[in-house]
Amino acid sequence: MLECKRIMVRTRIAPSPTGQDFHIGNAYTALINYIFAKQNKGRFIVRIEDTDRTRLVEGSETRILNTMNWLGLTPDEGPYRQSERKELYKKYALELINNGHAYYCFCTPQRLTEVRNQMQKQGKPPMYDGFCKKIKNSPRASLDESRRGEAGQKYVIRLNVPDEGETNFNDLIRGKVSFQNKLIDDQILLKSDGFPTYHLAVVVDDYLMKISHVIRAEEWLSSTPKHILLYNAFKWPLPFFAHLPILRNPDKSKLSKRKNPVWVSYYREQGYLPEAINNYLMTLGWTHPKQLTIFPLSEAILEFSFDRVNKSGPIFDVVKLTWMNGEYIRMMNNEELADKLYSYMNKKFDRKLLLLVSSLLKQRIKKLSEAEGLIDFFIKKPDVDLKVLIPKKRDSQQAKKVLNEVIQDYMGLNNWSTASIHDLGNKIVEKSRWKPVELFQMIRVAISGKTVTPPLFESMEILGKEETINRLETALRNIS
Ligand code: GLU
Repeated sequence: MLECKRIMVRTRIAPSPTGQDFHIGNAYTALINYIFAKQNKGRFIVRIEDTDRTRLVEGSETRILNTMNWLGLTPDEGPYRQSERKELYKKYALELINNGHAYYCFCTPQRLTEVRNQMQKQGKPPMYDGFCKKIKNSPRASLDESRRGEAGQKYVIRLNVPDEGETNFNDLIRGKVSFQNKLIDDQILLKSDGFPTYHLAVVVDDYLMKISHVIRAEEWLSSTPKHILLYNAFKWPLPFFAHLPILRNPDKSKLSKRKNPVWVSYYREQGYLPEAINNYLMTLGWTHPKQLTIFPLSEAILEFSFDRVNKSGPIFDVVKLTWMNGEYIRMMNNEELADKLYSYMNKKFDRKLLLLVSSLLKQRIKKLSEAEGLIDFFIKKPDVDLKVLIPKKRDSQQAKKVLNEVIQDYMGLNNWSTASIHDLGNKIVEKSRWKPVELFQMIRVAISGKTVTPPLFESMEILGKEETINRLETALRNIS
């Protein structure tokens, strides 16, 4: 780690704009890149990897960048876009042709399918069979490949992987990793549409953008030997590599849309807080040295180290995230919660009302989205279901009588505060000989239409005397 300290730390997140929004797995990778850069007074870069033109999703890039900002993972540089650097990659691919580390391949898609099928039949991993490499190396090669290309034949450029030996590297999380070269495919570097593949572009860009630490998900681990071969072919120094564990569903399968919502935008819409999402993600795969569960980003920046990152895939559990979100809601002061709710609910509720109910809500909600259902009765008259209004063991005559007493008594109450509303409520209970739960639930349903609300007496105070009485009277009129 000492070595890392001496160099200028530059990390990056390199999302492909091929999905609806920012994937939660990508948010996790971005977070670690961000934290590591900040810890080392370095820079965090965003690079849009949009070279796979067939998979581009309209608007994806904008949504990814917005979501990163919302999470607070604002890059220091970028966005750089690979599609704007197309010519550059070609130049580097040609350099590899010239120094023998790459070769032209003119194989047709049909031939490649046949090769793949054959390999599969023989129980071998489906790899390119090196047909064009052999032609290139053969003294009988009839035509210079670049001329064939110019003559209009479609070609790709492939990496010339040595047949023997091993490619090794040190991973900051996994230690020494080795791959046998004979199992590494002669990867396509430049496609027939002139665009680079991920492998060429990622190496060229990580080098040119002076990325010191390539921190990415484990799914890229098997691509890394190809990248190392490329760094070596260009005679470029290697960056540090760290492959983070892949997040999993509670059933241990790879995090997928079918089992869990995977887009950060979903969590945002549901009223999860970015601080809670970041904190929860930090607890996956990394343990705080003091075993803390709840800690701010600043603490993670201070304490993060790769040696505390787990190799095995941590479970992304929405239930735990929701619990943590509830904790974050409770940690906010009333002003903060009111502000959050005000903008979350698009100013639908008066800010003053939100401030009044925020301490009531804090105890009841785990996500901002749960607030509206609990407080909408403050701004709209309820629909009261008589079956819910009248307690199970009472008939409508009894309910009418008691509700009438409730109205009369509350009409006479001048000091409309939670405490006196509560006191008077207790007196009415005694007088009516109803159980407290029967009486208070009837009042709750009459004023809100619901059986679950913020605490009743506070709610009545907030609603105001006139409106409370008005709603009680409406309920009374509805009982035949
Ligand atoms: N474009 C890759 C992705 O979508 C980036 C992989 C890497 O970080 O090298 O995740």
